[in-house]
Amino acid sequence: MGGVKQEKDYVFHRDFTKSYPLITHGEGVYLYDSQGKRYLDASSGAVAANLGHGVGEIAEAMAQQAMKAGFVHTLRFETEVLQELAREIGELAPPTLNRVYFTSGGSEANESAIKLARQYHADRGQPGKHIAIGRWQSYHGNTMASLSAGGDIKRRKMYTPMLNHARHIYSPYCKRCPYGKTAETCQKDNTLACADDLERLIRELGPENISCFICEPIVGSQQGAGVPPEGYLRRIREICDRYEVVMIVDEVMTGFGRTGTNFAIEHFGVEPDILTFGKGVSGGYAPLAGMVVSDKLVDSLIQYGNGRFVHGYTFSGHPVSVAAGLAAVRYYREKRVRENGAQQGDYLFLRLQELQSRHAMMGEVRGKGLLLGVELLLDQEKDLHFPPGLDMAERLNQAAMERGAVFYPGTGTVDGILGNHLLVAPPLTISRAEVDELVQILDEAVTMWE
Ligand code: PLP
Repeated sequence: MGGVKQEKDYVFHRDFTKSYPLITHGEGVYLYDSQGKRYLDASSGAVAANLGHGVGEIAEAMAQQAMKAGFVHTLRFETEVLQELAREIGELAPPTLNRVYFTSGGSEANESAIKLARQYHADRGQPGKHIAIGRWQSYHGNTMASLSAGGDIKRRKMYTPMLNHARHIYSPYCKRCPYGKTAETCQKDNTLACADDLERLIRELGPENISCFICEPIVGSQQGAGVPPEGYLRRIREICDRYEVVMIVDEVMTGFGRTGTNFAIEHFGVEPDILTFGKGVSGGYAPLAGMVVSDKLVDSLIQYGNGRFVHGYTFSGHPVSVAAGLAAVRYYREKRVRENGAQQGDYLFLRLQELQSRHAMMGEVRGKGLLLGVELLLDQEKDLHFPPGLDMAERLNQAAMERGAVFYPGTGTVDGILGNHLLVAPPLTISRAEVDELVQILDEAVTMWE
């Protein structure tokens, strides 16, 4: 598929068995390759290019900052763009989260959050509190603490002996509840087994050993836009408070308007202690991510931790990345990008449901805003998954790419709970006509496989 032959190839490819189309440029929701082929970017790359391609304002802001000062070490200095972007994000975040720490990517952001939670307890004389609890069916990144806390079995497997002692509960999934409940039984018994399992695990391991709990408010790549049941995150917050466990929400994928609100946590009326972000913060124009930290944790750091987080990266707060972020955040606001994303998300949801009613291979349609997921089933009537290893989502995405759209396939987990899905998450700037085009290409790709 459109790969470019070179005399000698120096690239360490993501997958050496594949050849990759060479992208020459992008415009709006489209990418163009060297053969002149056009791809509708139906997953914003890795759900990062929220503003689409070719936004001149962001490119100019980056160039201007690079001319002013290309690198400024945040251990010694600050820049105006850093202060401005921190203010913008602090104002967007829930009211008690005000201090913004920058990293280059989402994995580093979660790594930082997990470490800050541990330092918080250690500073306050509770050095035993070191275990992070995460969830199966989640992804928090590929660095060691993030990978350990995450539950992506395929990514973890190779490194199992190197992973730390993070522990896991299951993510909620009412359609196939891992705790054997249904939404109705939970409501009737006034229980939420998926949340209460956190309390069970904390007690089993000893609250004096637990540092933090980390979760995606809406699960992206590992659940294909899995939305938790009503009350789940509130219950999690209560349990974290009861056992002095730092609550971290990973909004690396869901932040900056992706689910129709600035941050997905707003849908659930809860404030975490740390909120991590990435991807959309710069619209994908520069490597940029970070965490917004609650006043409670920052006050503790100042009072008990000599004011210094024992951590840091060379490229933290990189001025060109931060300039891209600042231009992106202003663009979101001025062009009402979030509002457009929410509106097109509602429309796309309906169009996908309509598609689902016509295709036996399509199961549940889920998600919020423009973070939508479509479950792929061998048999919709019998609610049967494709056998593991068939990688139907990947195959479907290949068929879509041949027809000019690229999605984000999720190939399911080996625990049998989750099957294949396709994440549908185009730039938030997408128009209604482009949504129609996306649906038409998906329709053709599914028809080809049925
Ligand atoms: N957290 C979530 C929810 C993600 O979706 C991702 C990336 O896909 C990450 C963390 C890791 O971010 P990065 O790849 O920028 O390190």
